[in-house]
Amino acid sequence: RDVSSWNTIISGLMRHGRATEALDRLQQMVRAGVAFSNYTYSMAFSLAGLLLLRDLGRQLHGRVVVAVLEEDAFVGCSLMDMYCKCGEMEAALSIFDRWSEFTEDIQFAWSTMVAGYIQNGREEEALEFFLRMLREGVPAGQFILTSVAAACANAGMVEQGRQVHGFVEKLGHRFDAPLASAIVDMYSKCGSLEDACRVFESAQDKNVALWTTMLCSYATHGQGRMALEIFSRMKAEKITPNEITLVTVLSACSHSGLVSEGYHYFNLMQEEYGIVPSTEHYNCMVDLYGRAGLLDKAKNFIEENKISHEAIVWKTLLSACRLHKHIEYAKLASEKLVQLEQYDAGSYVLMSNMYATNSKWLDTFKLRSSMRERRVRKQPGQSWIHLKNTVHRFVALDVSHPRSAEIYAYLEKLMERLKEMGYTGRTDLVVHDIEEEQRETSLKFHSEKLAIAFGIISTPVGTPLRIFKNLRVCEDCHEAIKFITRATNREIVVRDLYRFHHFKDGQCSCEDFW
Ligand code: ZN
Ligand code: ZN
Repeated sequence: RDVSSWNTIISGLMRHGRATEALDRLQQMVRAGVAFSNYTYSMAFSLAGLLLLRDLGRQLHGRVVVAVLEEDAFVGCSLMDMYCKCGEMEAALSIFDRWSEFTEDIQFAWSTMVAGYIQNGREEEALEFFLRMLREGVPAGQFILTSVAAACANAGMVEQGRQVHGFVEKLGHRFDAPLASAIVDMYSKCGSLEDACRVFESAQDKNVALWTTMLCSYATHGQGRMALEIFSRMKAEKITPNEITLVTVLSACSHSGLVSEGYHYFNLMQEEYGIVPSTEHYNCMVDLYGRAGLLDKAKNFIEENKISHEAIVWKTLLSACRLHKHIEYAKLASEKLVQLEQYDAGSYVLMSNMYATNSKWLDTFKLRSSMRERRVRKQPGQSWIHLKNTVHRFVALDVSHPRSAEIYAYLEKLMERLKEMGYTGRTDLVVHDIEEEQRETSLKFHSEKLAIAFGIISTPVGTPLRIFKNLRVCEDCHEAIKFITRATNREIVVRDLYRFHHFKDGQCSCEDFW
């Protein structure tokens, strides 16, 4: 058995998705005392990256140094990729700096690094790296432009996204559908629906994915009617919608309260397009009825369609019960979720909030203690705002910002002003949020309020503010922001985990229907 026969079996296993077996073989190979070739190293790094075995990766790196293979193009590339996948961007960067002088595929090296930063949620650095790449005259391909646009979308970096859009135009890239989709999505997720539309309209051959992206943009901005119009245009152009298009259409209907339209499309989907409804489609229908307050219909729909083994539909029903304060079905849904062992942090919080508003303290207490037993944890809330190319992040009760003292002082004053205007903090709801209990002891200082206060004191009067939040915006903050737009005469757009809220003159575009 020589090195090439070992290589063949290991790469064969990897190609068939049998990574752990491949790793076993690799260890056997070491024990058998067979020296690695550069190809073996490159596979070994891919494996370490795939299985997130950072220590193994480091050990192998040491061997590479001893074997003087660091400058090998093959090895260097997979080594860098391994560090990116394991989240060690600094190590990856040092490989990149040394190795990029030797490689012929320089474009690939840059793309690997940019993708690495994005995978690790470090969008700002990804963008810096991308700009450095352009400065150094490395041509940007389709792939990297698409991933950079997606990074701007995720982080809500509209100025940077606009720059990327500019590059695409300057570089004379044809606006093919995937790239156009990425740019449309970027503008939409950054809150600029008008720009999204413009790019969409100017794109040449639109494919189903691009149409769906535009549809989804209208839907998340709460413009259900416009979303449906896009769908009709798409049909008129003889583009066949896919499963995802239909999920988007149905959720547009449910978020805009278009019950009969939703029902129509649900049938059309099966009759005209032959799409068999998946759990997601069913769930949209439960949501459609539930949000509209048709709780009996929602519950019957679950039973009639034999989807009561799906936890997600019960969670949806539970949310609807919370919205419409329907204790009986809330209990039913919770019981189902417990049976399905799908009672997660979100459901606990919903249920515990419901009980709290109905003063059933004892039940709340029971729920909370059983939750502690199961150690259900929620993600901490975080909000951010972009000002002059810098991202300012806040968590509740955060004092790490250099202008914290001013922010808190202003927020105190602002909340007093809101109270005079008739705002009453909805402590009844949020105090019982488990996440809040631990991290957000005071409603006044939720992350979104901190970000807004900072935005107000840092920009000229009347400047619209764009805030991003990694969770759903809480009800108390939602209420407070409506008052803030009146108190300060500003427009405020909040993008939360699910959608956009355009606040203006004391109203929100979602009409409290989220
Ligand atoms: Zn809040
Ligand atoms: Zn809203």
